[in-house]
Amino acid sequence: MAVDITGLIQLLMGLTICLYITSLVYPLTDFPFGIPFSNLLHGRKPKVPVSVNYHFTSRCNKTCGFCFHTATTSHIEDLPTQKRALRLPAQSGMRKINFAGGEPFLYPKPLGAMVDYCKRELGLESVSIVTNGSLVKESFLRQHAGQLDILAVSCDSFNEQTNIAIGRGSGDQVKKLYEIAGWCRRYGVMFKVNTVVNKLNAAEDMNEHIAVLQPFRWKCFQVLIVQGENDSEETLRNGHKFTIGNGEFEQFCERHRAQESLVPEPNRLMAKSYLILDGYLRFLDRTGKQPSRPILEVGVERALASVYWDEDAFVERGGLYDWAKPEAEKGGCARGEELDW
Ligand code: SF4
Repeated sequence: MAVDITGLIQLLMGLTICLYITSLVYPLTDFPFGIPFSNLLHGRKPKVPVSVNYHFTSRCNKTCGFCFHTATTSHIEDLPTQKRALRLPAQSGMRKINFAGGEPFLYPKPLGAMVDYCKRELGLESVSIVTNGSLVKESFLRQHAGQLDILAVSCDSFNEQTNIAIGRGSGDQVKKLYEIAGWCRRYGVMFKVNTVVNKLNAAEDMNEHIAVLQPFRWKCFQVLIVQGENDSEETLRNGHKFTIGNGEFEQFCERHRAQESLVPEPNRLMAKSYLILDGYLRFLDRTGKQPSRPILEVGVERALASVYWDEDAFVERGGLYDWAKPEAEKGGCARGEELDW
């Protein structure tokens, strides 16, 4: 039987083109095997949401001039919905969750319930909260310390006038920071400090205070402008008056290089490396495009496939660090001892 070689080649080429187009279209559809199929054809590894920042509220009781998670909405999901949703990234490989805002302690009860759920039910390696500190109560730590690995408190200056000028202070932020550091030691929670280096604090020498507070990690961020959040007079905040150059940021880090806990985070590493779930349970696109659809509607894999975040920068900035409490400190609140972090 004669074989039509030309016809066969045309058929194969046609099939290849069809498969290629299909692999591009499938991630955008609800076809259940679309993403794995597309990844296979393109030789891509599936995205794993190893560390997720869940900004479950964008409401805040402070008014920092450079804030880039502004209260564009007051939407918040109810607790059962949040719990159902958080199970999904856990099933897809999430190992760490960080509750952020806005200010998470505006909702201490659901916050505490989610902390307990993520550690006890989902068994995450690390559960953390980042807060401006003003609403943290000792009773919260007493109740939830066993399930909380890290408490990160934002503090941009040890001069209260500077804190007030930034919009985060009300005259007692430094006192509260020391108080929280003490509670973290007492109840066995790893204490972290976050500082946004900006025009108003870039020249400050914080060595003395950081040496006394001894955070296990002192994250210093270069103030960041995010399109649509803090980039003009049209947005709720305009961070441009706080921005500093790379040189000023490096000088700040150089001045504090003796602090072993210092982790500098310039704009280059910060801008796109955080995987963020917003108050509607959607992943944010770190290039400013539309967020994903809610993970409860489309699942984690499809939501992740529709947004961009820089996984390489996440690793480069040290995103995978030793983020869980040592065994000895787990459940520390019951002992009430002072722990030497
Ligand atoms: S404390 Fe944080 S969330 Fe609140 S306004 Fe300041 S930067 Fe924004």
